[in-house]
Amino acid sequence: MEEQQRQMPGQSGDRIVMLGVNGGPVISPHEAKPALALVVNDAVYLVDCGLDTSRQLVHAGLGFAGVREVFITHHHLDHTSGLPALLLHGWTARPPLPGVNIWGPPGTKLQATNLLAGFEQEIGLFQTGDGFGAFPAAEGHDVEVPLDGSILRVMEDDNVLVDATRVFHGPEVANAYAYRFTVKHTGKVVVFSGDTAAPDANLAVIAKGCDVLVHETQDNSAIERIAAGLPRHRGEHLKKHLFEAHSSVLDLPAVAKAAGAKKLVLSHYTPVAHPPVVWLAMATPVAEAIGYTGEIVAPRALDVIPL
Ligand SMILES: [Zn+2]
Ligand SMILES: [Zn+2]
Repeated sequence: MEEQQRQMPGQSGDRIVMLGVNGGPVISPHEAKPALALVVNDAVYLVDCGLDTSRQLVHAGLGFAGVREVFITHHHLDHTSGLPALLLHGWTARPPLPGVNIWGPPGTKLQATNLLAGFEQEIGLFQTGDGFGAFPAAEGHDVEVPLDGSILRVMEDDNVLVDATRVFHGPEVANAYAYRFTVKHTGKVVVFSGDTAAPDANLAVIAKGCDVLVHETQDNSAIERIAAGLPRHRGEHLKKHLFEAHSSVLDLPAVAKAAGAKKLVLSHYTPVAHPPVVWLAMATPVAEAIGYTGEIVAPRALDVIPL
């Protein structure tokens, strides 16, 4: 009882925990790489598993015991480099990680099989010396979303239905997915865009009528400034790549409005880790101008979005 009374509003019950919201492969001081946790009935569904996922699970008070399923949006390393550590430190955690299914684009099954190749000695030493339990199994699943833009049922358990659709994330990324979670006991619908360039036609369909749309976010004006400081050819190349593969924050209110999303949550901030007030200062005037009346949230890492 006392424990419950100490909990802050939104810290229990179904929720999204923004474990890491800093996009891109370059590590920024004090920022955590992409990983989002949907918590339903104390089960933790991870969407992406960036570098800091294990530490952030501990910081958030979630730990590892409730983690059963990991959904990878695409195989850019800022979304996956935390996978080996999730298993290694999940194994030595108290209580430990029981084992995970890792769902993602083709290549995920092979990646899960080879995830700890080269770590045999580390695992062996703690197996013989320190009394940890069975090593958590990681079962990989290649999610083959149809090319025609249709929606694929990925997984169902007692808590959630999980669906996926393809999103465009630049021509070199053959497989990038958005995931939709339908919470069974409440009917709440949460959509995670993954990395994509707004507006994405498939995302608009899968996000239709959702309660929460978590969407990647880019400050294109900051990219203009960065590009201006580079040799012309490199600057133009950088701009072309980032503009065609990612979503300007200025486009997101229209995406949320078209979908009828009740709440828009910004995530995967690039190329600069602005404080939330800066992101909101960009998004809010656009929302007012076009008449998007849903709430817009610009979270920091570890912020909680109640469902
Ligand atoms: Zn990314
Ligand atoms: Zn990416």
